[in-house]
Amino acid sequence: MPEPTLTQFKTANTFDPRGLLTRHRNYFLSGATRSIEWRQKQLIALRSMMREHAEDFYEALWTDLRRSRTEADWVDVKYMTSEIAHVLEHLRHWMEPVPVSTPLMLTPSHAKLQFDPLGVGLIIGTWNYPVMLTLSPLIAAISSGNAAVVKPPDLAPATSDVIDRLVPEYLDRNAFSVVLGGQKETTALLEQPWDHICFTGGTTVAKIVMTAAAKNLTPVVLELGGKNPCIVHSSANLRIAARRVAFGRWFNAGQSCTAPDHVLVFKDVRDEFLKCLKETLLEFYGEDPQKSPDYGRIVSLHHFDRLANLLASGTIYHGGQHDRADRFIAPTVLVDVPLDSPAMQEEIFGPILPVIEVDNAEQVIEFINARPSPLGLYIFSEDPSLTQRLLHSTASGDAGVNECTLQPLIHDLPFGGVGNSGMGKYHGEWGFRAYSNARGVLYHSTKLDVAGLRYPPYNQHQHLRELVIPS
Ligand code: NAD
Repeated sequence: MPEPTLTQFKTANTFDPRGLLTRHRNYFLSGATRSIEWRQKQLIALRSMMREHAEDFYEALWTDLRRSRTEADWVDVKYMTSEIAHVLEHLRHWMEPVPVSTPLMLTPSHAKLQFDPLGVGLIIGTWNYPVMLTLSPLIAAISSGNAAVVKPPDLAPATSDVIDRLVPEYLDRNAFSVVLGGQKETTALLEQPWDHICFTGGTTVAKIVMTAAAKNLTPVVLELGGKNPCIVHSSANLRIAARRVAFGRWFNAGQSCTAPDHVLVFKDVRDEFLKCLKETLLEFYGEDPQKSPDYGRIVSLHHFDRLANLLASGTIYHGGQHDRADRFIAPTVLVDVPLDSPAMQEEIFGPILPVIEVDNAEQVIEFINARPSPLGLYIFSEDPSLTQRLLHSTASGDAGVNECTLQPLIHDLPFGGVGNSGMGKYHGEWGFRAYSNARGVLYHSTKLDVAGLRYPPYNQHQHLRELVIPS
């Protein structure tokens, strides 16, 4: 009897996560997903899907987040095709076993590191970049020869519907499925013994995911967020700093895990930096940002209400307008923000930027190290020794110097957090490795087997044995 397709799973209304996993695992165990040809075919199909249905994705992203085409291309549509091109270019090389030297005692022998796929992965995406954060882990899974079940974010329903419709049309249905749903479906999926789980989202759900994974000793990659500090030093080029900070903070209406969460500006340049920031915002989005075609909306009323409450955390220096019916919050700069106010206690994840004055580098280092490790840390400075000092005295998943937010777009850089901002890295070769078991294999020849040097009884040839045992 032919295997049921995903559509049959759905129409029969028999969501059966165990059945789904078993079906994909059996296919994985058949060896069908291991060859480079199969991997290349899936990646090329995924690229065709993105190209042939770019319009569907633009439209869905506009519906979910009012995302402009340019921003959709930066992080979702063209990002995907460029990441696939990168993987296709390097995959053969990444898959090659790595030779490793062996000790004299094992002569003649050689050893190799081979990269085996893990099996069937579960990918749980989130809504702020619903294409990238759902399908980029899938690229990593495919590159390493895995099968996977993808759970796109319920908070971006239009984009998730497109993924659900297209993935089974383009990719090998025996290896991949899409499951739509929220907490109930995710909970049911998490009960299964996956070979890998990649979760993107907040720390609260991440703990639920990791607890579920622990029951099956399933390895996890957790892509989380945090409060990313952005330091503006006295030596910084303030005009460029203001532009790049504004771009990084208000891209996607501030709903980026790598966006600067707050600015720590050195006292002597505070006023000038704030002035540059205000001028930049007027240049970017005009006097009425609600009318700008380039400015996004807040994903849900729940997040709108949360963010609207944060506006009271300090004095509004610029912005502050909001319109619940339109899920619009203007690009807002806050000053005089107490460190115990809500905006400085939780990840903002929206279009609000507190600017906090600092006196010196020691204060900056102490401030950062007193808080959970962020996903990104950004330093605007033309003073290399100050920059190095900050980089070497703090921790963060990634960092940017005279830049912010965009580092995940570099395919060769590992992407992911540290400590509270997550664990495990992916993108490019790091994604390939995250989904592989680096399996060490020792090949020992039988042409030589000097029994006296290796096997018991050990009281013979003691002086020779000492020569061959590594110390
Ligand atoms: P979330 O953690 O609430 O949801 C993420 C996913 O988990 C969704 O698919 C959702 O359906 C599922 N989910 C929600 N509640 C669940 C539950 N109780 N049990 C099982 N599954 C559940 O997402 P969020 O907090 O709104 O996402 C924003 C966070 O994600 C921010 O902290 C942001 O910084 C972070 N983020 C990180 C990255 C990254 O790549 N590191 C990227 C984007 C966002």
